[in-house]
Amino acid sequence: MSTKVVKFGGSSLADAEHFKKVADIVLADKTRRYVVASAPGKRFSDDVKVTDMLYRCYDMAVKGDSFSDAFKAIEERFNDIISGLGLDISLDDEFAGIKDAFAHRAGRDYAASRGEYLNSMILAKYLGFDFVDPAAYIRFNDQGQFDLDTTRTLLGEKLSGITYAVIPGFYGSMPNDTIKTFARGGSDVTGSIVANAVNAVIYENWTDVSGFLVTDPHIVDDPEPITTITYRELRELAYMGAGVFSDEAIFPAKKANIPINIKNTNKPEDRGTFIVSDTAETSRFTITGIAGKKGFSVIQI
Ligand code: ADP
Ligand code: ASP
Ligand code: MG
Repeated sequence: MSTKVVKFGGSSLADAEHFKKVADIVLADKTRRYVVASAPGKRFSDDVKVTDMLYRCYDMAVKGDSFSDAFKAIEERFNDIISGLGLDISLDDEFAGIKDAFAHRAGRDYAASRGEYLNSMILAKYLGFDFVDPAAYIRFNDQGQFDLDTTRTLLGEKLSGITYAVIPGFYGSMPNDTIKTFARGGSDVTGSIVANAVNAVIYENWTDVSGFLVTDPHIVDDPEPITTITYRELRELAYMGAGVFSDEAIFPAKKANIPINIKNTNKPEDRGTFIVSDTAETSRFTITGIAGKKGFSVIQI
């Protein structure tokens, strides 16, 4: 059976209603076998992402401040999802273990990673898939650099024995087994790594826009999606601030020549953007896209 790897961002897993859309998408195609999940993102524009709540809570713990209320607010985000889905599970033991680890200063990366960890447990249960913790399989070296060769072997072996799994995005572990995260937005990287490890036919990256748009929809109204873009063009745009897909996430998929399709969880019928190694398609436009970062300039010598 050919295998698709699908990644759902925080905007696609922010609440129970979004989880239902995600399940419809995953279960509609039996080749969508490996699902990479982010932590719950914003439910409305001035909401706070669970990852940011975790960082804040951990910083309070390290300072020795009381963090019980801040932690309770995180528990509520997950409990709302569990009850909204009508699931018969409790994460209370997990919450207690994490709270204890915060008090014992288990590390800022560990703290941040718990958003993907808990959300993936819920999603695995809801889909009826296995849960695979990437800590044992996605590995960094002593210098803190991601080690694709080791990871491909470990993760490839592990997943070869599992037909359907949910894998938390955003983190792996160091040689001493402490948790290490990728940069913010790093669940995109995990999806790309899983696609590489299982030789997926495609890596679908599901988000809240209908593909990679010619520019940021928060700045320009209703920009068109780019139908097809090369890895190289996308890397340039992502690096320059087009936040929809992290530039670090290109490499593992590109290395195995796996196309990436950026799709909209809220409009699954839209074609989205295909990211490929090269394209024979001639675009209607000379310029592929426009991106920018506030306060950031590049000087080329
Ligand atoms: P996810 O939660 O799925 O990881 P992100 O918030 O990381 O989603 O990325 C999606 C967001 O990226 C969009 O809602 C949009 O505001 C922003 N964005 C910035 N530039 C672009 C672009 N060129 N094309 C699409 N989205 C963009
Ligand atoms: N949850 C992490 C973040 O907010 C990683 C991700 O969503 O990709 O950056
Ligand atoms: Mg993202």
